[in-house]
Parts: sequence; structure tokens; C-alpha cells
Amino acid sequence: MVAIEEFLPFALPDIGDEEIAAVVSSMRSGWLTTGPSAAAFEREFADFVGGDVEAVCVNSATAGLHLALEALGIGPGDEVIVPTWTFTATAEVVRYLGAHPVIVDVEEDTFNVDFDAAKRAVTDRTKAIIPVHFAGLAVDPYAIRRFADEHDLLVVEDAAHALPCVGAGTMVGAGESDAVVFSFYATKTITTGEGGMVVTRNKDVAARLRTMRLHGINRNVFDRYRSTKPSWHYEVVAPGYKYNLTDPAAAMGRVQLGRARSMRDRRAELAARYDAALADLPVKLPTHAGAEDLHAWHLYVIRLQESSRVDRNQFIEEMARLGVGTSVHFIPLHQHPYWRDAYELRDRDFPVASQNFTTSLSLPLFSSMTDAQSDRVIAAVRTVLA
Ligand SMILES: *Cc1c(COP(=O)(O)O)cnc(C)c1O
Repeated sequence: MVAIEEFLPFALPDIGDEEIAAVVSSMRSGWLTTGPSAAAFEREFADFVGGDVEAVCVNSATAGLHLALEALGIGPGDEVIVPTWTFTATAEVVRYLGAHPVIVDVEEDTFNVDFDAAKRAVTDRTKAIIPVHFAGLAVDPYAIRRFADEHDLLVVEDAAHALPCVGAGTMVGAGESDAVVFSFYATKTITTGEGGMVVTRNKDVAARLRTMRLHGINRNVFDRYRSTKPSWHYEVVAPGYKYNLTDPAAAMGRVQLGRARSMRDRRAELAARYDAALADLPVKLPTHAGAEDLHAWHLYVIRLQESSRVDRNQFIEEMARLGVGTSVHFIPLHQHPYWRDAYELRDRDFPVASQNFTTSLSLPLFSSMTDAQSDRVIAAVRTVLA
């Protein structure tokens, strides 16, 4: 039996003294909004990703996805292909621009976009696709490129789960796509509380992102405090947004980025513990990255098999009773009232995601988790499925 101890939440952040010191020092510096820490965070992030990208920090991945699509010219009436197995942000940003997400099914074992389904969804209005690297398992970059080239589409990758993540030898972010967007939300692989980063190799896109994240004010304004020109003057060149990241958040992000690899390695270790301890149970374990690649292990998603004693909802309830939090990633878009009704989506058009949804759930996986906590999760899973 599992002793009833303190409740183990599904996710906890991994913030140490170094992050706290960096935020305090940023607060004492006299610069609170986007400034030197944000600029340094962008440079370091671009170096981390590689591939000569430019990095533009924003106050969420949602903002980053919105800005990326805007910078690439997505507008009213355009169609953008989005997998149903994602968070609503991936699709909502398409609506912000008056365009329409075309929601498609995913692959059974990776939960990543099914390119055959995507192919069937292409029309002459299709302008872009947003592949999601679900759980931190990369979508094959060659498959993305082949699909985009074949149909002449723009590509914005939703890399909210994918830092650091390597697919077919390519670091997510350093590939051929038009823009790649990372999230620093509280539960993501690195965090700034709220925050995000867009990377791109297209200088024009980067310039547009910088302008639009701050009210459509021409980039020159960022330098105006340091320039010899009078500092009051600036020009608005577009009706932009208010999506900039604060400097204390960027200071936290710089420390987290420095720890991104070691935190990933700890999550990989915890995932390997689950793999070993749950292999004999009636569950399907997550798909791994190839030997040369890197799974970010943002999530550890299991699927209950038919022979399991309990269904998914009972499993979650019994785990909670044993003091362990779990979650579901995701309720597929086609089952949410807005997307279902606005686009007349039916379960039978998403057979794989609809089936996976009935059986899948996420076990706790975060880098500050101890072996003892991981043992508690394992013991609880074994008790529930025994
Ligand atoms: C978290 C998440 C987002 C949104 O990230 P924010 O930084 O919270 O805006 C987008 N897509 C996916 C797949 C996510 O999990």
C-alpha cells in the first residue's frame, strides 16, 4: 500500500537560488521592462538553438504564435492546418487574424500531426501548417519540409514542449521552418513564469516580430535611451500589440536556459524509471526519440490498455486518492465546444485522437522530482492497476 503523504502535484517548478538572485539583481538594476536582460536572453537562446537563428522574446508562446503568423502575412480567409492534439492556443491565434484553423488528426503512437490527414485537408486557401512537437518528441523535420514544399506552405512550429529537443539530427528551432515558438509558462521545460521565444532565420520576419510585439513602434526605439538622438522621438508604423517580456522574467529565463540540458537529463532519467517500473502493466508507454535524437520529456503520457481494471477517469480519481496528481494532455480541440461547433467537427473525423483521448493521461514529470517522489508515483500506479 502507498502511505498517504503530502499530495504530490502533477507539476512543480524547478526554481533555485540562482534564479531568485538573478531576478532580485534585475529588480535592483533599475530596469524593469524589456531591456538588457531580455537582449542577453535572446542572444543566449539563439546560440543555444544554433542554426544562425534570431531570437525574439515575448510574454507568452501564444503571443509568439500570433506574431509569427502575422509576420508571415496570414490574414482573413486563409487556412492554417493545426493538429487536434494540442492546446487551444495553437488554433486560437489563427482566429485572431481572421484566418481559419483546419484541424486534423494525429498519429496513434506519437500524438503528432498525421501528414496523410493534413494532405487531405489542403485546399487552395491553405497557407501554413503548425506542427506541434507533442510532449517533447520532435515531428520529423524532413516530413515537415516535404509536406510544406509539396503544397507551398509556410511552417510555424509550436515548440512549447520542445526545449531542448532534437529530431532527425536537427535541434528544434534550428531547422528550415519560417518560425519556431517556445513557451516559458510555469510548467514548461524552462520557465519565466509567463513568457515565450520566437526564433527565425528570416531577418524581415524577426524585424516585424520586434516591431509588432511593442505597439508597432519601429525597432529604433529600443535603442533610443542609448542613442545620441533625442530620446522622446519614436514612430508607430503599424497597430501593434503589447507582447514584450519583462527584464526580471528574462533574468530568470537566462538561468533556466543555462540549466535546460541538465533539467532535461533529469526528466529523461525519471522517464526511464517509469519505463522500467511500469513495463509489465496493462499500459502503453510513451514513444522514445531515435538514438541520435533528443526527447525533451516535457510530458510522460501513458495509455491504458483494454485489459486495464479501471478506465482513464477512474484511474485519475484513484491516483488522486493515493495522493498523486495526474493530468490529461490534451482534450483534443475537436471535443471543445467552440472548435466543435464553429467548424462542425465530429469524433469520427478524428478516429485516432478520439480513441487516444479515452485512454491517455500524463504522470507527474518535472526536474525537481526526487527518486522518492517518483517511487510514490510508481507505487500508486501499480496499486491502481493491480
Ligand atoms: C503551453 C502551450 C502553448 C501556450 O504557451 P503559453 O506560453 O502559455 O502561451 C501553446 N501550445 C502548446 C502545445 C502548449 O502546451
